[in-house]
Amino acid sequence: RAKERTGNQYQVYSDDIDTDSLMKIKLENELFKALEREEGFVLHYQPKVDMRTQEVMGMEALVRWEHPSYGLLPPREFIALAEETGAITKLGRWVLKEACRKRKEWYDLGFKAMVMSVNLSPQQLSQRNLVETVSGILEDTGLKPELLELELTENLIIHNTKQTVATIADLKRLGVQISIDDFGTGYSSLAYLKDLPVDTLKIDKSFIDDITNNSAITDTIISLAKNLHLHVIAEGVETKEQAQCLHKKGCHLIQGYYFSPPIPADAFLDRISTIISER
Ligand code: C2E
Ligand code: MG
Ligand code: MG
Ligand code: MG
Repeated sequence: RAKERTGNQYQVYSDDIDTDSLMKIKLENELFKALEREEGFVLHYQPKVDMRTQEVMGMEALVRWEHPSYGLLPPREFIALAEETGAITKLGRWVLKEACRKRKEWYDLGFKAMVMSVNLSPQQLSQRNLVETVSGILEDTGLKPELLELELTENLIIHNTKQTVATIADLKRLGVQISIDDFGTGYSSLAYLKDLPVDTLKIDKSFIDDITNNSAITDTIISLAKNLHLHVIAEGVETKEQAQCLHKKGCHLIQGYYFSPPIPADAFLDRISTIISER
């Protein structure tokens, strides 16, 4: 045993690992079961607001797992596991379909212009049949492609090569929009940007947090977006000061707790009606 060989500390460490990996195997099994039955997952929606008009321009779908014993789990508790085990492909497909279905439902209620954003994991983007999957889901749900936006992370784009660029171009040809999530947190090379048919840069929350003290990175991203004729949106905006600061700088699209946290579908409909009537 580790205890005899390396002393007490290692023993403790080793026990922790055992407990952790048991927990992980348990969670992994439960994740697969939930995916098998397509139950237990739920999407919350967070509005994206245009500061110029206070209009809700769209929303981001964010997945949660209603775990039988742990309650509602946020993505950080299971997305990495889903990626490690390959379950993300199935989960991602469920998220995409559910988000498109819900957006079509709202469209039929009269909300014609809002764009639904869905996060794609690196593994989904490297899947050969991603474009077919997306177009199949759009067909099945009857959602117009221009009402769907896919959020990709910066690192995933830089790590990948010709195939990634080709896939993104194919997705664009379908008519869906592409945004780069958590922008500014990846590698600093910007050369890749000019070859990618993306629509929007999403400034990472970390730069928004202290924007009222230090806005150097945010300023740079805003002017980069302007020069490349891309849209720009800020995530993680929590205060009125941050929102007004961004608005003044020319970043008019805002997402964050300042307007609303991510909330269930029904609450989202109520919330956007309130934001619209507050105009
Ligand atoms: P993200 O795509 O960057 O999403 C933004 C995260 O910031 C969300 O966390 C959201 O709840 C949180 N947030 C938004 N506004 C504020 C704010 O004003 N203050 C603070 N403190 N937080 C704010 P969430 O829902 O826990 O999701 C975390 C990450 O998990 C997402 O980051 C995304 O990378 C990933 N994720 C969520 N849903 C999916 C999914 O369906 N598929 C994949 N592949 N990843 C997902
Ligand atoms: Mg996102
Ligand atoms: Mg983000
Ligand atoms: Mg983020």
